Amino acid sequence: MPGFELFGDKEKKQVQEVLDSGVLMRYGFDGMRNGHWKARELEATLSQKMQVKHTHLVSSGTAALTVALASAGVGAGDEVIMPAFTFVASFESILALGAVPILVDVDDTLTLDPKAVEAAISEKTRVVMPVHMCGSMANLDALHAICTKHDLLLLEDACQAIGATYKGKPLGSIGDLGCFSFDYVKTITCGEGGAVITNNKTYYENAHKYSDHGHDHIGNDRGAEQHPFLGYNFRISELNAAVGLAQIERLDEFISIQKRNYTILREALSQIPKVVFRSIPDGGEENYSFLNFFLPTEKLAQRAHKSLGANGIDGCFYWFDNNWHYYRKWEHLIEPKSLGKLPQDVLDALPDYSKMDFSASDHWVGRNISCLIKLSWIENEIRERANKMVKAINQVI
Ligand SMILES: *Cc1c(COP(=O)(O)O)cnc(C)c1O
Repeated sequence: MPGFELFGDKEKKQVQEVLDSGVLMRYGFDGMRNGHWKARELEATLSQKMQVKHTHLVSSGTAALTVALASAGVGAGDEVIMPAFTFVASFESILALGAVPILVDVDDTLTLDPKAVEAAISEKTRVVMPVHMCGSMANLDALHAICTKHDLLLLEDACQAIGATYKGKPLGSIGDLGCFSFDYVKTITCGEGGAVITNNKTYYENAHKYSDHGHDHIGNDRGAEQHPFLGYNFRISELNAAVGLAQIERLDEFISIQKRNYTILREALSQIPKVVFRSIPDGGEENYSFLNFFLPTEKLAQRAHKSLGANGIDGCFYWFDNNWHYYRKWEHLIEPKSLGKLPQDVLDALPDYSKMDFSASDHWVGRNISCLIKLSWIENEIRERANKMVKAINQVI
């Protein structure tokens, strides 16, 4: 997945242009910037590539989720449905706004189970937030239908799945809002960065204002601008945007390398009858950033994961035991533990996650192994890797 593996001359040239002008900020300083507007340019490129009307860049993927929710008016008392298998950023962004994260089960797609979503809807639900984990997607037709029926927003977290598509459309562009992360380990990187995409003009207008202290961005004197509502600072710098400009040009190339590497590994593992691959919704195409597969039992998955490591195969994850991606280790949310007191409304409304039953998710995540696909592998290395993986798994089943 990581774009940092192919960081090179194009990235350096983009950054150098910013350094030469000395304007590191995305707004203002028109006379000094030698015509360089890296953030604006990256936003235009992303809008075109993702086939949406509007893109707003921010400082991280977590900021993108927070800004996306805020831009749609999500706040205190609102409930946001999110998966039990994701990254902690999902509930961080929800809690940051005083809203309540409602965790629900994932299915064999490793993303939101539409039936579990429907069962979790209450009169306080405002948003359904599928997270397209490890390069592939939720069943967006099913989720879209549920959102339409119950008048809810669909917010896609596509932070791990940029470049993947569903029925020919880029992930992130299908919901009311979509979010990307460009942190250092994502498919394309800005160092740190994120983006909100949408076809909704109001959400876009809210997003750029909210992420810059409420500045209305009218005129070209920042000090004289108005502040129609309270905002915050989630700005991206020109240096980060410059890196992203070089990387976005290489997205298609990155995806095709990942696809080649993924396919070699998948074909090799297909020889093992007990290995079953993650299910991809009809009409979906992954971005091939991870190869995900299930073993018949939790025990076997744990043994296979150990065996892969012992055979020198790095980059394979057993998310079931992971501190950051699965509810079982989120004791800071479950208790909850915060530095200062959380709003009383949130404390009152937060479900008691220590008592919740996510055995339907455990059934899938507990048997899953997820292997990172690298860009820098050369073909001989991958074939050798594939053979070693088959051997390592066969040793334990
Ligand atoms: C990385 C990631 C985020 C957060 O992105 P940052 O840029 O690291 O803040 C959010 N959601 C998912 C699924 C991610 O993988």
